[in-house]
Amino acid sequence: MKIYNTLTRKKEEFQPLDVKEVRMYSCGPTVYQYAHIGNLRTYVFMDILRRVLQYNGYKLKHVMNITDVGHLVSDADEGEDKMMKTAKEQKKSPWEIAEYYTGVFFNDARALNIQTPEVVSKATDHIPEMIEFVEGLVEKGYGYETGDGVYFDIGRFKGYGKLSRIDLEEQMAGARVEVNEEKHHPADFALWKKAPREHIMQWPSPWGMGYPGWHIECSAMGRKYLGDVFDIHTGGVDHIPIHHENEIAQSEALLGKPAVRYWMHGEFLLVDNGKMSKSLGNTYTVANLKEKGYSPLAYRYLCLNAHYRNKLNFTWDAIHSAQVSLDRLLEGALAQKNGRDEVEKETVEAFLREFEEAVNDDLNIPKALGIVWNVIRYPKKSGVLFDLLVRMDSILGLEIADVREKEEKTEEAAPEIEELINQRQQARKEKNWKLADEIRDKLKDMGIALEDTPQGVKWRKA
Ligand code: AMP
Ligand code: ZN
Repeated sequence: MKIYNTLTRKKEEFQPLDVKEVRMYSCGPTVYQYAHIGNLRTYVFMDILRRVLQYNGYKLKHVMNITDVGHLVSDADEGEDKMMKTAKEQKKSPWEIAEYYTGVFFNDARALNIQTPEVVSKATDHIPEMIEFVEGLVEKGYGYETGDGVYFDIGRFKGYGKLSRIDLEEQMAGARVEVNEEKHHPADFALWKKAPREHIMQWPSPWGMGYPGWHIECSAMGRKYLGDVFDIHTGGVDHIPIHHENEIAQSEALLGKPAVRYWMHGEFLLVDNGKMSKSLGNTYTVANLKEKGYSPLAYRYLCLNAHYRNKLNFTWDAIHSAQVSLDRLLEGALAQKNGRDEVEKETVEAFLREFEEAVNDDLNIPKALGIVWNVIRYPKKSGVLFDLLVRMDSILGLEIADVREKEEKTEEAAPEIEELINQRQQARKEKNWKLADEIRDKLKDMGIALEDTPQGVKWRKA
């Protein structure tokens, strides 16, 4: 299996430290708002990587953090804590904010068939580990205390910039960095922040009451669960120049050797060929897709159509086409399931070989999907080919195994069902999503599945 290592800028043969178990870490969500579909693209990439590793027979020990403290408005340690900002805006405690948005994140992830990592670790549950890490850096002379915190001394770490290959001085010349007279270098980043009294999230430390910097979270939690050196670290490309550069600096300064062997980064999702932003009103969520009648798996399908190292452009036309293609793919799979033709073993093996070559070539899922379509379009129809598709779907995660004949509405719906569907439509009009979901679940219990299509609500016996 080959994967692209951002550190070396090369596709490399993947060889885990322990042949039986791959240890990997993924930067998880900052739980201060709804994850948008761009964030979720990065987790679909993470999920595909998990599934390809599992397909190759590896057991996984995979850690994903939940950032519920310390991520400031700018990645470079400026401004307010994102959690605190939302808490103030919504007049809630940061703990309530974290709990709510963590819940929504995992609901969205489940809807996209993103597997949950073996360890999900909240930053606020690991404050002692972070303090210990910072203490170690201070002892070794890489951390220094100032009036407002403890900072990492970038000038002392010779390898700074090796992941992004950006010259630090050049980067600083173009960046807007808050002047902090006490910092040795403008790019020195916070390991620990001293908290003013009104700051709700704060813990005792050798440097007084405060809270951890964002970057130290990942270094400390990765080390706790995966050991000093582990195999893979993932995140979005935006993390390369600051967050991951800082993680490398911290870990390597403390351990005297690199902690991560393969760095992997997912490219960005664009919307209408541009950046997503609140001001443009285009930071779409899974809920927004559902409101327009698109299934979360149509979005997954859209993601699978682009290589993870290429940008992907989201448009409503693109998600519409993805939904149509996914529906056709599932219909095609059903035709295979019901088929009775003879298909030669060699044909099946050739398809599988091509598919495996594609997924093992740095997760070439668009190519693998093309092979899935070749199986679907194969003139002979056979349950053997359906079984092959189900096997391939252990990586794609499109629920091919669950396809069954859709029973279109033929008879008049039982009045009770019609009534519930109407109530749900009303709830949706009033944006009462909770009630709408409850009604959907109730119908589900009655064996009725709803499908919100652009043409309206369809129902069938599940
Ligand atoms: P955050 O919750 O802000 O820490 O971000 C969660 C993840 O989403 C990170 O791995 C980011 O790199 C990633 N991310 C942010 N914006 C996008 C985007 N437009 N496309 C893909 N990934 C993104
Ligand atoms: Zn991280």
